[in-house]
Amino acid sequence: MTGVPLSEAGGLVLELVAAINANRAHLSEIDGAIGDGDHGVNMSKGFTRAGAALGASPPPLPQALSALSEALFEGIGGSMGPLYGSLFSAMAETLDGAEALDAPLCGRMLRAGFDAVQELGSAKPGDKTMLDALAPAADAFDAAQREGKSFADCLDAMAAAAERGRDATRDMVARVGRASRLGERSRGVVDAGASSCCLILQTIATGLKERLEATSGAAVSGKKTRKTLTLASK
Ligand code: ADP
Ligand code: MG
Repeated sequence: MTGVPLSEAGGLVLELVAAINANRAHLSEIDGAIGDGDHGVNMSKGFTRAGAALGASPPPLPQALSALSEALFEGIGGSMGPLYGSLFSAMAETLDGAEALDAPLCGRMLRAGFDAVQELGSAKPGDKTMLDALAPAADAFDAAQREGKSFADCLDAMAAAAERGRDATRDMVARVGRASRLGERSRGVVDAGASSCCLILQTIATGLKERLEATSGAAVSGKKTRKTLTLASK
């Protein structure tokens, strides 16, 4: 089997919960500049609900992503619940039936997530939303794959592009969502949704790389694969 065994990767979702909770204040603060200052609180509410539903021994990654999606749909009001709920449900669907997550499947998972958010929210890259982190991240992953890069290098390229995409929202004028009411005055600060999306993508990249290393290390030494880097094992 090449790639990350899905049966052992559900802890990745607990890492997302921890990342969102650790950045709760920051995400609300940046939303406060051109929005209503609740983005961190909203996200934390939904992700905490997912963490509680999953418990300390999460199911395989597709089921864990589905549980996250469900918790976000049910736990977050406004636009973010359905948008992030759709993102994670599309990701879960892509993984359904697979045994391991390799680079081609990961590329399809990111693309499906992007398509789902775009379809539901009708925003485009450049509108100063979460898509401005997600779109360049999916593109960079695909480009790295076409160049024949390793899965880990594709993940690095994806995470770096998400960060550049997040930072690029600083100079954008919001065209959808609450901040669009400010028109030109929405320029000059990064978008809260692009920031949370970048954080999520970076956490996915780090978590998958750690698991890839654990898997290849175990294969080389002939040991049974064991996940050591999840919150669940702490
Ligand atoms: P609210 O706008 O209801 O206060 P949040 O503060 O939780 O919700 O989320 C705001 C974020 O939602 C924005 O920063 C933006 O990235 C994202 N967003 C809003 N509308 C859309 C949309 N149609 N498509 C994608 N992202 C969107
Ligand atoms: Mg808000």
